[in-house]
Amino acid sequence: MRKNIVAGNWKMNTTVPEGVQLAKEVNAAVNAASGLKCDVVLGVPFTHLTAVKQVIDINKVGLAAENCADHSSGAYTGEVSAAMVASTGANYVILGHSERRGYYNETPQILKEKVDLALENGLKIIFCCGESLEERENGSFKAVIEKELRESLFHLTPEQWASITIAYEPIWAIGTGKTATSDQAQEVHAFIRSLVAGQYGDRLADDTTILYGGSCKPANAPELFAKPDIDGGLIGGAALKADSFMGIVTAF
Ligand code: PEP
Repeated sequence: MRKNIVAGNWKMNTTVPEGVQLAKEVNAAVNAASGLKCDVVLGVPFTHLTAVKQVIDINKVGLAAENCADHSSGAYTGEVSAAMVASTGANYVILGHSERRGYYNETPQILKEKVDLALENGLKIIFCCGESLEERENGSFKAVIEKELRESLFHLTPEQWASITIAYEPIWAIGTGKTATSDQAQEVHAFIRSLVAGQYGDRLADDTTILYGGSCKPANAPELFAKPDIDGGLIGGAALKADSFMGIVTAF
């Protein structure tokens, strides 16, 4: 069964006490809400994972790291392995965010290693893909997205695929205030689902959760989430305040 998910991506924001406070507020709001139609996940900096885990009900609010290393352990100063992430009690990791691809040169091959290590360590993956403005305007965006998925994910077995959530994040819409229209997003989500169907069959494709990310807010979430292939959101800026994040969580 396909799940709806709204996941926050805090990026490099909040100190540990601020993050703990935000997580407490979201956890309380999720507990107070009745009949939520989506799962809720908080994507937080590595430094926050252990402290945030202590203040959330992990059965109701999932916990994601925003990255993990492409090696399992060893002399990689400053890196954080998938096993370390899992040992905090986190159950998700966000991989392939355009900021990591762009600023830290994460290639499809590096992401494939990260995907494999995350799965070996029992983490579910929110895997981001999406095109630049130039790629949107020159019409190559579908080829770009297909390449990103094919090169980092399509080696997985159908059993492993069950741990994958895709996030379509047009780079030109991230943090810019520009949202893809609901029709533009729906077109790409349906395209992604057709790629998954080609690789894994219709049943797994139908079960795959595909999130939209890019300036999603309480005001535009209802229209986006009403589309048949949009199963929730990966939320940056609007996840940094409990009330705006909950405004999106309750948009279904
Ligand atoms: C993101 O970075 O994943 C994101 C969607 O950011 P924003 O919501 O701020 O555009």
